[in-house]
Amino acid sequence: MLKLLGISQTNLYLYSVLSRLPYLNSYKSKIMLVAFLGTHVPLLSLLIYFVISASFTTDMKVRVIAIALLATLIGTALTLYALHNLLAPVSLTFLAMRHYLNNRELPHLPTNFTDEAGILMSDTAYTLKKLDTIIEHIASYDELTGLPNRVLFHDRLQQVLSKNQNNQGFAVICVSLGYLKSINNSLGYEVGDLMLRSVAQKLTSCIGERDILARLDANKFAIIQTNIDSVDEAVILAEKIIESLSKPILASNTEVINSVNIGISVYPSDRTEVSKLLGNAVMAMDRAKQQGQNKYQFYCSELNANLQERLNLEKDLHNAIKNKEMFLQYQPQVCLYSGKIIGVEALLRWQSPIHGFVSPAKFIPIAEETGLIISIGEWVLRTACAQNRSWQLAGLPRIKMAVNISSRQFQEQNLTEIAAQVLQETDLSSNYLELEITESLIIENIQQAINTMNQLHDMGITLSLDDFGTGYSSLSYLKRLPIDILKIDQSFVRELTVDSDDAAIVKAIISLAHNLQLSVIAEGVETQTQFEYLQRNGCDEIQDYYISRPISAEALAKLLKQESELTCNIDNLAIAA
Ligand code: C2E
Ligand code: MG
Ligand code: MG
Repeated sequence: MLKLLGISQTNLYLYSVLSRLPYLNSYKSKIMLVAFLGTHVPLLSLLIYFVISASFTTDMKVRVIAIALLATLIGTALTLYALHNLLAPVSLTFLAMRHYLNNRELPHLPTNFTDEAGILMSDTAYTLKKLDTIIEHIASYDELTGLPNRVLFHDRLQQVLSKNQNNQGFAVICVSLGYLKSINNSLGYEVGDLMLRSVAQKLTSCIGERDILARLDANKFAIIQTNIDSVDEAVILAEKIIESLSKPILASNTEVINSVNIGISVYPSDRTEVSKLLGNAVMAMDRAKQQGQNKYQFYCSELNANLQERLNLEKDLHNAIKNKEMFLQYQPQVCLYSGKIIGVEALLRWQSPIHGFVSPAKFIPIAEETGLIISIGEWVLRTACAQNRSWQLAGLPRIKMAVNISSRQFQEQNLTEIAAQVLQETDLSSNYLELEITESLIIENIQQAINTMNQLHDMGITLSLDDFGTGYSSLSYLKRLPIDILKIDQSFVRELTVDSDDAAIVKAIISLAHNLQLSVIAEGVETQTQFEYLQRNGCDEIQDYYISRPISAEALAKLLKQESELTCNIDNLAIAA
C-alpha cells in the first residue's frame, strides 16, 4: 500500500538516522534542524569563503561576517517560528490521538482544510469517531447475535430501575440453552453459531417492543420484561419462549434439537438491586434445570435457603469419606432369560451426622462441581472392586460390578491408569468390572471419549451407556463407541404402560441395541406389567425395585448364596434324575 503511494520503508532512513541523535526527540526538532542546516549552512559557508578570499581589512571581514550571522540568525528564528506553526496540525493530531488513547475522549480537530495536513486532521477526527463507535459496540454488544451483552444489560437494568419512580413492576428473565456445547462438539461451531442467531431472532419475536433482550454468555440470554402488572405476564412470556425454542431449529440443513430453562425474578417483590435481580433470576434458572428440560421457575426465598443448604453440604462433603460417612449399596441386575443375578450396580450413599441421609442426586452434582468427585469416585471404584473380589473369594457366584463414572472423572487424563491400578490392587479380573458412562459425558468431547473408552475396553472392562435416551442421543456416534450395554433410562420405563410413546421408545431402543450387537438393560421397573412388556420385547436384563432395591454388601451376599444353593439343588435333582 505504501509502495503504491510512492512511499517505502527506505524513505524513513533520514528520519531514523535523526531519531538516533540526542536532543532530537521531537519530530519538530528534526524538521527544524534540517531546515536550518539546509538553508543557512550553504549560505554562511559561501559568505565566509567570499569574505576570506576578498581583500577586505580584518575589521571589515569581522563586520561583514557578524552582520551576515545576525541576519541569518534572525532569518533562522523567523523560519523556525513559521515552521513551528506550520507543523501545528501534526502536533495537534498527535496530541488528539494520545488524549483519546488515554482518556477515550473524542478530539475537536479542524475539518475545513483540504491539504495533506488538513486532511490528516479531519481524517484522524473521523477515524477516531468511527473507532470509538466500534469499540463502544464491541464493548456493549455481542458480536454473534448483535444483541446487547452483559455489560450493557446491567446498564439498561440500572436505567430501568432508576427511571422507575412509580414502582412499576418488571421481570428479569434468564434463558439458558441446554445443548449448545453438545451441538458445537458434535455438529460443529458453525451450526452452533447459526442456532444461536436463530435463538436470538426467536427471542426477539417473543418479547414486547419495550422489553430488552441481551446475550449474557455462551448459552445464556436475559430479558427485561418492562411494565408488567402481574407475574402472569412473565409466565405467559416464559411459556411462549419455551414453546418457541423447544421446536427444532434448521441450521445449515441440519435439524437441531434444543432445550431451554428459564429463571424469573420480579421487581419489586424479589429485590431492588440490579445484581440481585439478575442473580436471583440465574438462581431460579438453575433450579428450573434441576427439574428437567423446558421448565421455568420463579425466584423465591426458598431458593436462597436451598443455596445455603447446598453450601453446608459442600462444606461437609469434603470430609465425608475421611469420616467414614459414605458407603456403597448394591442393586442386583438380573438376566431376563435365566432369572439369575449377573451383576450389581454400586450406588453411593452418604449418611451424614449433620444432614441425615443425603440422596446421591443431591450430593453427586455438588461433588462434580467442586471436583471432589475425583477422590470420591476413586474410593467408590476401589471399594466396589474390593467387595466384588471378596464375594468371589467367599465362593459366591461370580458377577459383574457396575460402577458409575461421572463426567469429571471421565475427563481426568489418568482414569485408565486408576482403573488398572485399582484392579491390580484388589486382584479383580477386568471382566468383572463394568463402568457406566452417561451420554452427555461422551458428547462433550467425542474424540477424547472414544480414546478413553477404547483404552478401558482394551483392558477388558465392560462399558455401558447409562440413562440412555435422556441426553442428546445422536445415533451416529453410537456405533463409533466401544460400548457393550445400553441402559434404558427409568423415565421411559416408568411410563411404559401408560404412555404409548414411551413404550414405542423402549421397543425401539431394544431393537437398536440388538442391531448394534449391544445388550440392553432396563432401569426402574416397578410393576409386573412393565416387567412383562420388557420380557416380551426382548430386553436382556433389568435392574429395578421390582427385583430388589439397592442393598448392603451382606444382604447381597445372602441373595447370591440363596441363588447358588437353589441352582445346586436343581443341578443335584437333575443328576439324581
Ligand atoms: P443411575 O446410575 O441411573 O442409578 C440408578 C438409580 O435408579 C439409583 O438411584 C437406583 O436406586 C434407582 N433405581 C433403580 N431401580 C429403580 C426403580 O425401580 N424405581 C426407582 N424409582 N428408582 C430405581 P440412586 O441410588 O438414588 O442414584 C441416583 C444417581 O446418582 C445414579 O443414577 C447415578 O447417576 C448417581 N450415582 C449414584 N452412585 C454414584 C457413584 O458412585 N458415582 C457417580 N458418579 N454417580 C453415582
Ligand atoms: Mg448408573
Ligand atoms: Mg441410570
